[in-house]
Amino acid sequence: MLKRIFLIILSFILSFIFAITSIRDASAYVPVIDPGHGGEDGGAVSPGGDVESEINLDISMKMKYLFCLFGISPVMIRETDISIHSPKANSLREKKVSDLKNRVSLINSVEEAFLISIHQNTFTDSRYSGAHIFYNGEQSRDFAVLLQKRIRDHIDPSNTREAKKVPKGVYLMEHVKCPAILAECGFMTNLRELELLRNPSYRVKLALLIVSTYLILEY
Ligand SMILES: [Zn+2]
Repeated sequence: MLKRIFLIILSFILSFIFAITSIRDASAYVPVIDPGHGGEDGGAVSPGGDVESEINLDISMKMKYLFCLFGISPVMIRETDISIHSPKANSLREKKVSDLKNRVSLINSVEEAFLISIHQNTFTDSRYSGAHIFYNGEQSRDFAVLLQKRIRDHIDPSNTREAKKVPKGVYLMEHVKCPAILAECGFMTNLRELELLRNPSYRVKLALLIVSTYLILEY
């Protein structure tokens, strides 16, 4: 009896390993996760003092661990609260420019990269809320459209936003050669949404939605 239970458990473990391996083999892309801002450049700041770069990093690290569970190792642009500017950069402006350039070269150095850039939104009118997903071209459009729909279906039914082509002027998205999406996960200027963005389990939900969308599309 014990031997039978052991064999059943063993076959379950083996089939799980094979499933993971086949997911890994099937993937054509390498996910590159870009937690926006970092270091001296905290990005947006909420009226209560929450810093965008910290929220971006936490969601991104949760995504990393979820990808790893499925046997996929994403490339992380940063894993701590740092800016990746060159040592020559002095002023904050120079550091921001240098940081973005270095991010672009890092991303462009990854073969078959699929970029997922994580940011938070702000607006002068605090009524506005809702995650908004942008894409940089046809190859990442499906991902953005599906992710936007799944966010509406699973965590925010009131979010009627449509995935859009990224507007002109977003340096990183304009200069990367790979398919890319920019996830503006929510508005830090909307108090209800800010409460959610502060919540660790809401961050897990966001991370899970992004990673599972990637897996569903078998990238
Ligand atoms: Zn940002």
